[in-house]
Amino acid sequence: MPSLPILVLNSGSSSIKFSMYEAGDGRRARLFEGAVDGIGTDLGKFWIKDAAGKKLVDQTPALPNRAVAFKMVADALHSGQFPAPAAIGHRTVCGGPTVRDNQRITPALIDEIESYAALAPLHTPIAVYIMREALRLFPGLPNFAILDTYFHRTMPEVVTHMPIPAEYSAMGVRRYGYHGISYESILMQLQPDVPQKLIVAHLGNGASVAAIRNGECLDTSMGLTPTGGIISGSRTGDIDPGVVLFILKKIAETTPNTLEAADKLETVVSKKSGLLGVSEISNDMRGLRDAIQEGNAKARLAVDKFAWTIAKCIGSYVAELNGLDMLVFTGGIGENDIASRAEICAGLGALGIVLDPARNNVRGEALISADNSPVTVRVIPPLEDLIIVNHVVRLLGE
Ligand code: ADP
Repeated sequence: MPSLPILVLNSGSSSIKFSMYEAGDGRRARLFEGAVDGIGTDLGKFWIKDAAGKKLVDQTPALPNRAVAFKMVADALHSGQFPAPAAIGHRTVCGGPTVRDNQRITPALIDEIESYAALAPLHTPIAVYIMREALRLFPGLPNFAILDTYFHRTMPEVVTHMPIPAEYSAMGVRRYGYHGISYESILMQLQPDVPQKLIVAHLGNGASVAAIRNGECLDTSMGLTPTGGIISGSRTGDIDPGVVLFILKKIAETTPNTLEAADKLETVVSKKSGLLGVSEISNDMRGLRDAIQEGNAKARLAVDKFAWTIAKCIGSYVAELNGLDMLVFTGGIGENDIASRAEICAGLGALGIVLDPARNNVRGEALISADNSPVTVRVIPPLEDLIIVNHVVRLLGE
C-alpha cells in the first residue's frame, strides 16, 4: 500500500481532537495533531502542532457551537498548509447492539448509531454530528467508524447479560464496555509477549478496568453506558438501583414531566457524582491532590473511594481470571498520579501485587512492581489514535 495520510477524529462534548498519520505498509508516522477546545465558549482554543511539538496553529477563537468548531478543522485541512487526508477514522464510543464491527460510514450507518444515542448520551450526539459534517465537507473520502465497544465483543454472555426482564434485554440493554480502543493499544504495545492473565486499569476522567485472557476481553467494569463500573471523575459507577430511584423520586417532586426528570437524573449520575460529588471540589485528580495537601477531608474521602472501588474490581477480576500475570495502569491518572497507583495497590499484596515505591515514583511508561512481586505491574500510555489508524488501513485494504 502506498503511504496515505489518515485523519483521526475524536470528538467530546466540548472538544474535537484530531491527528494525521502517514500510514503505509507497516509504517506509521504522526504528521501533526491538534484540537479545538472550549466549544460553547467565547474563548476557545484552536491549535495544531507538528510531530516535534512545534505549534503550527495557535488561536483563541470564539467557539459558539460545534459547527463553527468543526469548520475550523475542515478549513485548516483544506488550506493547503497540511496534506489532505485520504481517509478519516472516527472514534465511536457506542454503536449499540447492531453496529458491532468497525466499518465504513454511510448515512444509514450514522442514523443507526444515532438511534442508540441513549447508550452514550455524552458522546454519541457530537460524534454523529461530526460524521455527517465530515461526509459533507470531505465529499468522496472514505470515513470509518472505529468503536470503543469492538474490543469487548469477546465477553461471554454470562458477563454481558443484565439481570433484568427479557423485554429490556431484547432492546439492547446489556454490558457493552468502553475504552476498548485504549485496551487494544495496550495489547499492541505488549506484543509479542501478551501475558495470559492481564488486567488493565484505564484511569482518566472516565475510568474503567478490563480483565483480558489470552489477549481477549473477558470482563470490563463499564456496562450499558460509560456511567457504570468504577467511580469516575463525575460518574457514580455501579450503584444500588435503589439510590437511583430515590434520587429520581426526589427530582420528580419538583419536575413532574417524566423525560425532564430523567434528564436531570442523568445529569446527577453522570456529571455531578463520582470524585466531584463526594469531594464537592473537583472531578480532576490534580485538584483533589492539592485539596488533600491542604487537609480537605472530603477530597480525601473521594480519592479513598476511588482507590477502594478499583482495588475491589481488580480483586474480582483476579478471581475471574483465576490468577494474574500483569497489571497495567493507563489513562491520565494511571500514567501520572503516583499516589493513586500506590493507594490502589496497597491492599493487593495477598494477590501478588507488590509495588516498588522508587520505581513507582515516575510519570509515564515504566515497570513499577518490586523484583519479588509475583505480578508484574506496568504503566503504559495509551496510543488510541494509532489503533484507529491501524483499523482504517485494514478496512481500506478490504
Ligand atoms: P480523559 O478521560 O478525558 O481522556 P485523561 O486520560 O486525560 O482524561 O485523564 C484526566 C485525569 O488525569 C484528570 O483527573 C487529571 O487530574 C489526571 N492527571 C493528569 N495529569 C496528572 C498528574 N500529573 N497528576 C495527577 N493526576 C493527573
